[in-house]
Amino acid sequence: MTPPDSLADVLTRSLADAIALLFPVSCAGCDEPDVSLCDVCRGALAPAVARDRLASGLEVWSGLAFEGVAARVIRALKEDGRTGLARPLAVPLRAALVEAASAVGVVDAVVPVPTSRAAYRRRGFRVVDLVARRSGVRAERLLVPARSTADQRGLGIDARRANVGGSMRARDTDARRALVVDDVVTTGATLDEAARALRAAGVEVAGGVCVARTPRHARATS
Ligand SMILES: [Zn+2]
Repeated sequence: MTPPDSLADVLTRSLADAIALLFPVSCAGCDEPDVSLCDVCRGALAPAVARDRLASGLEVWSGLAFEGVAARVIRALKEDGRTGLARPLAVPLRAALVEAASAVGVVDAVVPVPTSRAAYRRRGFRVVDLVARRSGVRAERLLVPARSTADQRGLGIDARRANVGGSMRARDTDARRALVVDDVVTTGATLDEAARALRAAGVEVAGGVCVARTPRHARATS
């Protein structure tokens, strides 16, 4: 039961297809030529919201499993800078936000985890903020990096925790109760750090919301 495409969606897709004729692209999910995301792969991004509880107790809602087409499309956005993919990825994020909001009740802020300065310099945009914006929520950048961190990929649970611990701080805010948003939840170390920083600023953290979650076995072992 997907809602009908808005005119803006149709125009965006037409524009993407038109640009594809000028600058050859291939589907981010399957490499089909001349389309940025084919209909089959767009269908593979249909929301399948899952709810997890981190060891810290924080509950996290995710719109997709981070595997197959979803993983390829997220990587194409993050690593190849294909920002047009933020819009289709906003669909599962929005579904996860809706489920989270109905479970936790009223929140007065939706807060993206901060983008490191190095990642922002490299990409020129903030992945999480962009997808959150495309999902239609007003994301408030209440969290900022407090120090630089290493790339989390390839680090185990303890190393991730040590890497991100104390890496964020919250701006002064009147917000009382927030949901924290990230792109992919793996061990949850980043969401836990975001929650710690917000709580230190007096904000209650009602839960986490992500575009995608790594499969359980990967979360337990990586
Ligand atoms: Zn495809």
